[in-house]
Amino acid sequence: MNASPNLLDMDATALVAFCTQLGEKPFRARQLLRWIHVNGQSDIQAMSDLAKSFRNKLASSAQIFAPPVLKDSTASDGTRKWLLEVGGGNAVETVFIPEPDRGTLCVSSQAGCAVNCSFCSTGKQGFSRNLTPGEIIAQLWMAEFLLRRDLNQTERIISNVVMMGMGEPLLNYEPVLTALRLMLDDNAYGLSRRRVTLSTSGVVPMIERLARDLPVALAVSLHASNDRLRDQLVPLNKKYPIKELLTACNFYLKYAPRDFITFEYCMLDGVNDFDTHAYELIKLAEQVKCKFNLIPFNPFEGSGLKRSPKQRIERFAKILTDAGVFTTIRKTRGEDIDAACGQLAGAIQDRTKLAQRTLKFTAKRQLLNQGVSSNDLNVETIRPYS
Ligand code: SAH
Ligand code: SF4
Repeated sequence: MNASPNLLDMDATALVAFCTQLGEKPFRARQLLRWIHVNGQSDIQAMSDLAKSFRNKLASSAQIFAPPVLKDSTASDGTRKWLLEVGGGNAVETVFIPEPDRGTLCVSSQAGCAVNCSFCSTGKQGFSRNLTPGEIIAQLWMAEFLLRRDLNQTERIISNVVMMGMGEPLLNYEPVLTALRLMLDDNAYGLSRRRVTLSTSGVVPMIERLARDLPVALAVSLHASNDRLRDQLVPLNKKYPIKELLTACNFYLKYAPRDFITFEYCMLDGVNDFDTHAYELIKLAEQVKCKFNLIPFNPFEGSGLKRSPKQRIERFAKILTDAGVFTTIRKTRGEDIDAACGQLAGAIQDRTKLAQRTLKFTAKRQLLNQGVSSNDLNVETIRPYS
């Protein structure tokens, strides 16, 4: 693999440092940022307002590299899922969810996850590795410009980002923070902090850090109304029990762009969906300003769990709502392509095929690095954008 620095790994500050190192003025960093993240340009030589000498210097010392797309599927409801190859036999998934008033991208932060929640297929897969900042922001970069191209649109398509894909974002803190900075940067994606949501299983010290560093909207995966149950469903609870979690949420609210925390609650038949659980949740809701989002469990092979029946979920929601706790039931999207919450697995089944594709891809990159134009290449084009 080519070891030259990847410009997708760099936020504004890092790009300024990189340009300075190349003997260029700091404002070049802003131009570069805009070429990459506003225009979706991956060909350094095509950045026409940069001096030819700078372009040559850049092209020989850096690259713009996004993980190759291994699979691209669209569900009957328009939800689109990409499987991205991140090396070492690992793949992660990114999901675009179109809605009439917004376009939401669900982004992954790790290959696999170490938290091992009993109802999550990513957790069942175990932890492989942290994604780099470039691998995280590349999901937005790839999706935005691919969608624009496919829909023949020049306007922005992705209006909201949720860090709710594979992995626990607060256990890959620095790279996630760099990617978040790019999402919010006016010279990149310019999203407001309210339109970027980070979902966590409850890494208490990092919730407090994020509050100080970059408080975006926060969702907390609660899933249980007492510690005994939560210890079983979200093993991280043994380290950071509910009381500490609620204290961290109240601290976060002092900095947050919204005046409530969203509690996610996966509805599991006969496990956490009794009336008594709803009443316990009402007590918890008295301690922190919050909204509940009930997620019908999305089954996957071997989980041994079942989704609560519709009437049960509706009754549960009514108990909460009647007590004045704002509650929504999440509409499940992309089920027919396994793109719904908790169904992202990413694991690569066919390693032979992966090896072949990676070979072709590497060959193409080597040629590009030698100055061959992509139009002249006779190898399969895996990168879908230019
Ligand atoms: N690790 C983070 C973010 C990724 S998971 C977290 O746990 O918050 C995103 C959301 O999907 C979480 O609320 C998670 O609990 C939920 N989820 C996981 N598996 C699920 C499943 N099988 N069905 C429904 N929701 C699930
Ligand atoms: Fe990890 Fe979140 Fe899945 Fe739990 S729900 S295993 S924290 S990705």
